[in-house]
Amino acid sequence: MTYPVIKPKNNRKYQICTCCVMDTSDEDITFDANGVCMRCNEYKERIEPEWNHGKGHEKELHELIKAIKKSGEGKKYDCILGLSGGLDSSYMLHLAVKEWGLRPFVFHIDAGWNLPVAEENIKRMTKKLGVKLHIKHMDRKEMMEMQLAWFRTGLEMLDAPQDHAFIALIDKYSVKLGVKYILNGYNICTEIIADPASWERCSGPTGDGTYIRDVVKKHCNVPIKEYIYTSGLKHKFINPYIKGIKTVKPLNYVEFTRKSMMKTLSEEYGYVPYGQKHFEDLITKFLEGWWQPTRFGHDIRRAQLSSLVVTGQLSRDEALEILEKPPLTEEESKKLFREVAKRLQISEDELMKYHNMPECTEKFRSQEKFYNLGIKVYETLGLEKRIRK
Ligand SMILES: [Zn+2]
Repeated sequence: MTYPVIKPKNNRKYQICTCCVMDTSDEDITFDANGVCMRCNEYKERIEPEWNHGKGHEKELHELIKAIKKSGEGKKYDCILGLSGGLDSSYMLHLAVKEWGLRPFVFHIDAGWNLPVAEENIKRMTKKLGVKLHIKHMDRKEMMEMQLAWFRTGLEMLDAPQDHAFIALIDKYSVKLGVKYILNGYNICTEIIADPASWERCSGPTGDGTYIRDVVKKHCNVPIKEYIYTSGLKHKFINPYIKGIKTVKPLNYVEFTRKSMMKTLSEEYGYVPYGQKHFEDLITKFLEGWWQPTRFGHDIRRAQLSSLVVTGQLSRDEALEILEKPPLTEEESKKLFREVAKRLQISEDELMKYHNMPECTEKFRSQEKFYNLGIKVYETLGLEKRIRK
């Protein structure tokens, strides 16, 4: 297995942003006259002035913490937090419990792909913070069959089975526990430049059960019975607008850097770094570290590093230097490849067959348009706030 030369699939001449490291591997990228990409310009114009690197949001943060605490009066938990073992959710947990005194229901999904380094991090942290960790063990056989189904589609974004289960559990637990706040670890600091949408063609929204069920129906060879689904309607509309369950992103109200986050976690909890962002589970490490770069010519580190570059945490030259090497060594890739085939109970030849198949052109059912429209209608009618209450 060697890394093919990464070529943009469109006919555009190769171009890379003069400010960050996004390039024409995003087919939709546009550049201004100075060669600066649309993401960098949007960041400067719209995001940075408001976010201000997390500075000056003390009042918003204070109000939010107060509201969360108030909503949880008389209840066992005042919010809910899904812990992946990654840096962002771990830092979120640290702030929520230690700094802000919140009482989150903390859960973790075991979808059969956990890596010991992430598991150990999670255990050490929750133990030191005195927080009970709820682990949802997904039916391993089903999860492997579902993962295989996504490989069979030829799609690029193959994380859907575990990502959807995560969203479905959040939806389920928040209703069951009567919790009004979901703590989301999303942060501008390390994630402002997202994966290009052009990499997600043909995939449905991760939170959309219609899409997930359709892939299951078309590509699973055994019935899926234990898996948990949510729907776009529930996730995007009923829970937030009717039941008043808010998803909040408090990391954007706090000043930190990727480095300072890591330092705090390692000093306080003996947190062990696991390398590239999202490398906390085996399948994501495989997909982002090998599958996507070699099958599609897409290196997710471009987005991750660009986030650090535009927010001033890394120089563009440093990012370019990192990108010169593949995300995984050949040895690591081979080991992962073997391990993934083994867990999926297929031969390495079969896995390679999926790697070499044509890209997906199949259409899957999806509710995306429907729930986006629903939210828009309520916003237009000015009903959003009332329903939220
Ligand atoms: Zn840029």
